[in-house]
Amino acid sequence: MPRRALITGGAGFLGSHLCGRLLAAGFEVLCLDNFKTSVEDNIAQLTSARGFTFIHHDITQPFFIEGPVDYVLHFASPASPPDYLRLPIHTMKVGGLGTYHALGLAKGKRATFLLASTSEVYGDPQVSPQPESYWGNVNPVGPRSVYDEAKRYAEAMALAYHRAHGLRVRIPRIFNTYGTRMRLEDGRALPNFMTQALRGEPLTVYGDGRQTRSLCYVSDLVEGIFRLLLADSPEPLVVNLGNPDEVTVLQLAREVLEVTGSGSKIVHRPLPQDDPLVRRPDICKARQILGWAPVVSRRVGLRRVLPYFQKAVREQARTRAEVLA
Ligand code: UDP
Repeated sequence: MPRRALITGGAGFLGSHLCGRLLAAGFEVLCLDNFKTSVEDNIAQLTSARGFTFIHHDITQPFFIEGPVDYVLHFASPASPPDYLRLPIHTMKVGGLGTYHALGLAKGKRATFLLASTSEVYGDPQVSPQPESYWGNVNPVGPRSVYDEAKRYAEAMALAYHRAHGLRVRIPRIFNTYGTRMRLEDGRALPNFMTQALRGEPLTVYGDGRQTRSLCYVSDLVEGIFRLLLADSPEPLVVNLGNPDEVTVLQLAREVLEVTGSGSKIVHRPLPQDDPLVRRPDICKARQILGWAPVVSRRVGLRRVLPYFQKAVREQARTRAEVLA
């Protein structure tokens, strides 16, 4: 019998890459999405694949699945700051009600539950790099709290289901990740810089650009999640997944200019409220229990993702020209 996995947010940037990885490993995949912050194109090549089923559903509403489910992966949620700031209540409902529904399914089917958590649970960290043992520094009433606190609540609820019902729980805390299928309008630093550079527009660096992030290429991240999903432990596993190679946002903008060969300028815009000053994963735990570490350097990753952004920017320009004609 093929193993059967359900992924909420399966048409999203990470969700769709994961669907592909699970199908390649022989899983049957049920992909659930409502396209609130994802696009159908992400799963276009998967819809005809054997073992793939798409279910159009909003996870904040209850749902039922026929037959066995061995793994529930909860990836649904707006995840880029402009998206969750634009959808504050929906983001909290996905992290609260959506997680409750996904956990209920996992409990009913005796499935392993994997929650896509985030480095945002550490808020604006006062410890760097951030180990899993760090409790974080989150402003509970700041604008980002709709995402940060929803994810912290989701982690707490997953652990409650483990303690009360013995549910097998895996929680990857996902640090900044980039790769193909990111939306041009996603609003995060990398897609913004790539799109701006390729259109010859100024790159918008928020604040002085000295804040840091650590960017992981999507194939590395997906491999880490896959290993965590299959890790053989009855204990809940909470594990940072990300690339520890830390870079300032200004340096990232310069690297994008270099890789695209763009003559765009860098301009500065106000720093959003509560924007974390530093972010870098401590991945000792992932190395130890999963034997995992990223292998794609930023230098290689930026070159690898470039053709995707070039094509997407070209296609968008063509569509816009057609609309105006
Ligand atoms: N950022 C920026 N210019 C942009 C978009 C983002 O300087 O056009 C900055 C943002 O303020 C943050 C960093 O880049 O310091 C990473 O932001 P992103 O939205 O990618 O994700 P975050 O790590 O904040 O969730």
